[in-house]
Amino acid sequence: MDILLDFLEVFKKGGLRVLLILFLFVVVERRFFARKYVDASSLIFNVKWIFVYGVLGYIFTFLAVDNFIPFLKNTLGLTPLLQLPRPGNIYHEVFYWYLSFIYLEFFYYWLHRMQHEVPFLWSMHKFHHSERQFQVSTAVRNHLFEIPINSFCIYALGYLILDFQLMYPKVFLLGVSFYSYLAHMNVRLHLGRLGLFIGGPQIHRLHHSFLRQHINKNYSTFFPLWDKVFGTLVLPEKDEYVDTGLSDGGDCSLSDGVFSPFEFLMNKFKRDGVGKRN
Ligand SMILES: [Zn+2]
Ligand SMILES: [Zn+2]
Repeated sequence: MDILLDFLEVFKKGGLRVLLILFLFVVVERRFFARKYVDASSLIFNVKWIFVYGVLGYIFTFLAVDNFIPFLKNTLGLTPLLQLPRPGNIYHEVFYWYLSFIYLEFFYYWLHRMQHEVPFLWSMHKFHHSERQFQVSTAVRNHLFEIPINSFCIYALGYLILDFQLMYPKVFLLGVSFYSYLAHMNVRLHLGRLGLFIGGPQIHRLHHSFLRQHINKNYSTFFPLWDKVFGTLVLPEKDEYVDTGLSDGGDCSLSDGVFSPFEFLMNKFKRDGVGKRN
């Protein structure tokens, strides 16, 4: 009974919070949409997915961030390569927040890039990119296993190089979760040159485009800075609101959000003939 109550409590905090935020954003989006919706199928698919992702995703993400760094520090005795001096005043503190966002987004950028370039990781990430009607609810269409992978690669690796307070990654995580809704909105919002400094829905929409010139571009979430540095930034034209989806025209089912990497491995073993003798 206690387990059931705990589960309901987590669902209330995780799933219901996601549903509430989504509802508010959807209302705005339906009023100021950039591209007309074909039908409600994408929204229904994504809301169904929240019942898996909203609960398990919430548990995985916060458990991972809360536990990875203390585990590395206290259990394995690993210490970061570089120590930052502790902030001495409020200006240092603000600077550190800013620095930690850019720093953590560097890891996010490379992880996201690998999710597109490494076939095994793409077998999970394509679930997110299977969205044909780009909209705010696309923000929750993420493969279940991407959550612990992201947490490990961004926060644990980030910690091993640079010592920062646990608070920074948690706030970054909350920021990414919230900003992700904004970035996926189907709204008419052209940032112009500001798009060089801050990401937005039109820039991220290009990341979801299946057109050749947009493939593997715009990996950053907050700061297009890293895309600029590594040559993957493409800024949209004023009225450019492209079609989205997979370049092979494929679709994903809800079960792909859990089982697609296993399917990928099975197909690979079959193709490579594992266990076959000459
Ligand atoms: Zn992507
Ligand atoms: Zn996206």
